[in-house]
Order: sequence, then structure tokens, then C-alpha cells
Amino acid sequence: MTDGILYVVATPIGNRDDLSPRALAVLAEVQIIASEDTRHTGRLLSHFAIKTQQLALHEHNEAEVSERIIQLLTDGKSVALVSDAGTPLISDPGFRLLRLAHQQGVPVSPIPGPSAVTAALSVAGVPTDKFCFEGFLPAKSAARRARLGELVDEPRTLVFYEAVHRVKSMLNDCADIFGADRKAFSGRELSKLHEQCVHATLGELAAMLDSAAIPAKGEFVIVISGAAQARLSAHVDIDALLEKLAPLMPDRQAVDIVAAVSDQRRNDLYRRMLELGGKTGDHKPS
Ligand code: SAM
Repeated sequence: MTDGILYVVATPIGNRDDLSPRALAVLAEVQIIASEDTRHTGRLLSHFAIKTQQLALHEHNEAEVSERIIQLLTDGKSVALVSDAGTPLISDPGFRLLRLAHQQGVPVSPIPGPSAVTAALSVAGVPTDKFCFEGFLPAKSAARRARLGELVDEPRTLVFYEAVHRVKSMLNDCADIFGADRKAFSGRELSKLHEQCVHATLGELAAMLDSAAIPAKGEFVIVISGAAQARLSAHVDIDALLEKLAPLMPDRQAVDIVAAVSDQRRNDLYRRMLELGGKTGDHKPS
């Protein structure tokens, strides 16, 4: 344990045994724990017989308390930042504190551990080589649908957190906008007693929430597979693109570009280029 370091400590998302031995040691040894909710973290600390003093840092006092914490750190104290569950700053407070720490040259160190996003992805059964974490969608349906509309062609897997009282309407909106056939995953109460992992289409997940086969109880992560390449190409007007590119560059280059943004084969694109009046190899920009 080194003085003057801000440790960012992940805590369990349900199962207390997921608290790592290193997280335990840091929480026991730092001089101060900055907690999102001191009562909530107090229960975790007393379970492990940790007596470290706490300081509340939540979204309503983050600006002011962050300054105090930086002062404590520059005075040589060691501080651990925790949130109610999982990894701080992942849809949780701490960003202002970390930004200030970096600005003031205060060393920071992560104590990695649970997070609902990685827990869900690890069992979702959809591609995880690339994903984007969207956190919480807007609460109001119009704004939520607008955001989903912006994401409809996103090719990476999407991860959402959702509040229990909105998960039904959120899934209905997702099925409506992304299509009921899109593969998805619902992770409910991960690592807890009533854990439920369901891999199905968006339409099936929405129906399971309607029928209470997935009870609207507890905490949810929703993972949705990205837009298929075919869907992306469905939005590309191949002919218009070929005609626009043809006068600007050699046909070969135009075909390469259109092939990259569509699911069309290069030979088919060459043929189409000729049908549209292109002269293969002849279009050189002057
Ligand atoms: N910082 C946390 C993390 O690293 O996952 C997330 C905090 S965010 C305020 C809380 C949201 O995370 C919940 O509404 C839910 O969407 C998700 N979540 C947290 N714990 C979960 C669990 N055990 N099972 C499923 N989702 C969970």
C-alpha cells in the first residue's frame, strides 16, 4: 500500500464472495474510502470486518467532495473510491474525481473486479470481439426511440443497463426499431440468488417479459447483437454510389469502395458498373 494514491476499487454486483482479496486488502488499509452510499458500503465493510473511515461521494456532491479528496491525497493519505456495486465510473460517480486527480498529478491505480457489463458479455453468446457500452437509454420513450434509431446500423454488439420498471417498454422499443429477429440476451440478477440468463431474439425477450417468464424484478443488463452486414448494405444505394464515384476515380477503386460498404461481390459490382455505362479501367480523374 502506497500513500498518496487514489485506488479505484471494484466491488461485487451481487455476490459478496466476488470481492477480490486485493480489493479487501486495499479497503482495509487505505485511510479513507470514498463511497457512493456510506450505509450501503458500510454493510459490505462490516461483513468483512473492515473499519476504515468513509466519506460520501455521490453525484450531488461530487464536485465539492472531489476537491477535499484531492487535498487528502496530496497530504499523503491513501483513498479508495467505491460505488454501490461493480466498477466505479461505469454508469456510476467518480469521473470528476478522476479528472481532477489527473489534472493535479495524483497517481491513480485500478483494483479491477466485477462489472455488470463484462459479466453479461461473458455469457451473452453474441460476438464480443467488438462491443459498445451504451449504459442507460433515455427514460422517456420518444428520446429512447430516437437514440435507438441512431444505433440501428451499429455493427458492434450493444450493451445496455436498464431500470427494472422500464425494461419491458425498453425491450418493446428495441424489438420495434432493431427488428424482432435480432439476437439478444437478458442478464437478470447476475451473480445473485435469482440469476436468470436468457439468450433469445428481441421479440422473444419482449414476449417473455410480458408473460413474466422473465419476471420484471431485480437488475437487468440487455445485450443486443450488432446490425448484420446485410442490413448495412440494404441502406446503400449501390447504383447511385457507383455512378457518383465512376467519374472521380478508376473503376477498380470505385468497386473497392462500394464492396467495402456493402455485401456485394466485386465481380457483380464490375458487371453493374458496365451496365450503368462505366468503362472498366478508363475513369481516371483529370
Ligand atoms: N458500476 C456498475 C457496474 O460496474 O456494473 C453499474 C452501476 S449502474 C448504477 C446499475 C445498473 O447496472 C443496474 O441498473 C443494472 O442495469 C446493472 N446491474 C448492476 N448489477 C447487476 C446485476 N447483478 N445483474 C444485472 N444487472 C446489474
